[in-house]
Amino acid sequence: MILFHLNFLKRKINLHQGICAAILVSICCFKMVSAAVVTSIRPLGFIAEAISDGIMPVKVLLPIGASPHDYALRPSDIKTINNASLIVSVDPTMEAFLVKPLESIPVNKKITISKLPEVQRLLISSQDSGQHEHYANFYNMHLWLSPEIGTLIAINIYHQLLKLNPNDKKRLDENLKNFKNQKDKTIPKISEMLYPVRKKGYFVFHDAYGYFEKQFNLSPLGYFTLNPLIQPGVERLHKIKSQLTSKKAVCIFSEPQFKPAVINALVQGTAVRAGALDPLGSKIPMNKDSYMKFFLELSMQYYTCLK
Ligand SMILES: [Zn+2]
Repeated sequence: MILFHLNFLKRKINLHQGICAAILVSICCFKMVSAAVVTSIRPLGFIAEAISDGIMPVKVLLPIGASPHDYALRPSDIKTINNASLIVSVDPTMEAFLVKPLESIPVNKKITISKLPEVQRLLISSQDSGQHEHYANFYNMHLWLSPEIGTLIAINIYHQLLKLNPNDKKRLDENLKNFKNQKDKTIPKISEMLYPVRKKGYFVFHDAYGYFEKQFNLSPLGYFTLNPLIQPGVERLHKIKSQLTSKKAVCIFSEPQFKPAVINALVQGTAVRAGALDPLGSKIPMNKDSYMKFFLELSMQYYTCLK
């Protein structure tokens, strides 16, 4: 009987120790989870990675393959948002899924890029403003494709992180300096690469590239808004093809979500090449060098098809 009691007690203690360990682990993990820079989309995550490198991790809300224009948050995303040290997003019209959750986040824990006065000076108008509801904005909000705005985003993240972690000033200074150096080295290289193809006409599937095209003096002819999964009907196909040939397009650029059959149907019987642009850098690994890798990759995608 005594032995039984002893064993029972021992088991109880073991169990108790187990629970204590579990609580300790969860407290510890909670701390790790809570200190993160959270961004809505991947390219903002690229910029955040460069600035917060060695200080805190970066998390991106939008999964690879999803579009910011129509994403719906998961319950785990709400937790990520509420635990974030800093949340970076573009504009309420770009990430409608963030409007509600951001309401309860204090001002000093969020950056809405389109609201920054220094960014507002650089906004360009949208080609398809008012055409469909997620573009219900006069300005083109694909502003992460401007290296100049990218630098302003980096500077803002820098200042916010400095307020949160004043002891990390040296590291933050270094990170921002590296970010700017990379940009100063890479952008002229891209200008040089794209210079010979700057006059070649092309079409895109989505009015996302205005900032990039302006930066590198490219010559877009227009864009077609299509459902990425459905092949356009005969009439629409005919219209697109006649535009491609009458405007002497060299290339038509789709995006990763489009099925090859859709693209093939569009270029079949024309001399137009099919290319693809990835405005969210879905294949670029996340680290401190990602932002300029993303620009290089996008430039290669343009160059390969236009040359
Ligand atoms: Zn877009």
